[in-house]
Amino acid sequence: MDSRLRLESLVKSYGRKRALDGLSLDVRSGEIFGLLGPNGAGKTTTLKIVAGLVIPDSGTVEVSGIDAMRHPDRAREISAFVPDQPTLYPKLTGREFLRFIARARRLDPASSESRIGFCEELFDMQGWLDARAESYSHGMTQRVALSAAFLSKPDLYVIDEPMVGLDPASAGTFHRMCRAAADSGSAVVLSTHTLPIALRICDRIGIINGGRLASLVETSSIGEEGLEKLFFELTGTAPLDAAGYFAAGSPLPGIG
Ligand code: ATP
Repeated sequence: MDSRLRLESLVKSYGRKRALDGLSLDVRSGEIFGLLGPNGAGKTTTLKIVAGLVIPDSGTVEVSGIDAMRHPDRAREISAFVPDQPTLYPKLTGREFLRFIARARRLDPASSESRIGFCEELFDMQGWLDARAESYSHGMTQRVALSAAFLSKPDLYVIDEPMVGLDPASAGTFHRMCRAAADSGSAVVLSTHTLPIALRICDRIGIINGGRLASLVETSSIGEEGLEKLFFELTGTAPLDAAGYFAAGSPLPGIG
């Protein structure tokens, strides 16, 4: 299978903080790939580097064989990025925003109208896609932003925390869109904090810790319990017992 994204030895520091410490990764055509990691592990930094929004100190990024550092415009043309908090233009309607993106992506008007109509139906946006974006909830904004990513059918989708704010039907649609995009030869790279979602949606998972790839897992080879155990082992994190906080004599006013 062709490589859609190849990251080699990425290093990125913010001041003294090293966010990425030699991260390497290869995502192939046809894959849905999930990035998992504890808070501050470097997931968003990685995705922003792929999107060309953050410049690494060293390392390389290739999108479908194109050196994204040397040819950022060419890499952007064949990829789509959705941040964890997408923003639309508040005074434009969702449909106007999607038309704007379609024009920027140089889609011909007939294809863009038909794809916008498709997404409108798939993400159940009838009834509000012609309202101004300033009136949208987070989940509605997310549905328009995801539709914008799917408009141009890029080689690579880069999506930060896609499920946050989506209702169950939209989450299901998003999953099906990703699967169909991957089946048509694209690759989807997404980050999530939710292990069951990663298991359900992704073909492979990369666990990141301290700016490095700690493990690569085929989701078909592991269950939820196994993934949780591996995640906690590799990242040195674990939920602590909170019962003592609410026990008799606890420091909470009015309790105990
Ligand atoms: P989360 O799961 O909490 O969203 P993450 O895995 O996406 O975390 P990043 O946002 O990539 O992690 O952050 C990695 C490290 O880089 C963290 O220590 C964070 O504090 C730091 N960092 C990220 N962006 C900046 C910035 N603009 N300035 C300074 N430090 C930053």
